[in-house]
Amino acid sequence: MATDAPIGLPEPPDAGASALPPGTYDGVAVFVTGGGTGLGRAVATEFARLGASIVIASRKPEHLTQGADTMAELGADVCTVTCDIREPDQIAAAFDTAEERFGLPGVLINNAAANFPVPAEDMSPNAWRTVVDITLNGTFFCAREFARRHIAADTPGSIINIGASYAWTGGPGFAHSAAAKAGVKNMVETLAVEWGPYGIQVNGLVPGLFPHDDMTVDIKGNLDRTNAKDACQPALRVGRLRELGWAATFLASPYARFISGHTLVVDGANWQRRSLTNPAVVTVRDQMGKGPFEPGDRP
Ligand code: NAP
Repeated sequence: MATDAPIGLPEPPDAGASALPPGTYDGVAVFVTGGGTGLGRAVATEFARLGASIVIASRKPEHLTQGADTMAELGADVCTVTCDIREPDQIAAAFDTAEERFGLPGVLINNAAANFPVPAEDMSPNAWRTVVDITLNGTFFCAREFARRHIAADTPGSIINIGASYAWTGGPGFAHSAAAKAGVKNMVETLAVEWGPYGIQVNGLVPGLFPHDDMTVDIKGNLDRTNAKDACQPALRVGRLRELGWAATFLASPYARFISGHTLVVDGANWQRRSLTNPAVVTVRDQMGKGPFEPGDRP
């Protein structure tokens, strides 16, 4: 008999479980940008559990070490490379290092991105440019490097661009990141068509709310303004990190070869959310606890 209490979406299987056969990624190197922290590390973890060698590319030594330690604990072969994805030369050098160690990576996870909440009227040109440069330009430069090498070698490959659902809806408080992620989603569709003939599959993967310990102070502060995060999701819970990793390992696997140009949203339907009755509008300034806008002398 139904009770009054809604139950939400069920919990997934425990960490360590997998829908794919053991060894699905044996002999495959997976290049993960930003793979030392948060969701990148979680995605790398699921590939490693299925036998992949992992390449982690990012800027900060402490992130590279953290990612390497996690992969080593899982018994995976791992290689870390210092790389700012805004710089095509650094990306090429990172792929050189990866190739020397493992051969050409068969999978690229374009996970690195930058983001922080700010009312659009307060946003400086530098903030806009930085987020777009990392999230949109960096994603393209990495995809291009991966594709060039595969096209030259006549080998197939799989790219997954990590997106965000405000690519479709807009993201109040995140004008820079939302615009960049809209570009990332669009890029999936273009590149899947251009590179399909060369055997390169290109998909997007959009996480919903997946809180984790590596979140930046800005993003954590934004989340802390949300009371009872589980209750704010239609699933009545947030995402479990392994759920995103499982989706990524499926999308890049032999079982998903005919899926390309698709962006898969893993968010318990939160992005589809509408209310029966409209709640009162609260400005981004008020949501962030900011005072009135002061034009002043601003960059
Ligand atoms: P995170 O922990 O802040 O990770 C961002 C990663 O990107 C870091 O490892 C960072 O490493 C790397 N990075 C940033 N700028 C870089 C650059 N210029 N060059 C190379 N690496 C760079 O964030 P996250 O929460 O795991 O998010 C991962 C992805 O999921 C992002 O694409 C994000 O937009 C998306 N996402 C997350 C959520 C969520 O709930 N967490 C929701 C929607 C979408 P370094 O500092 O060492 O460079």
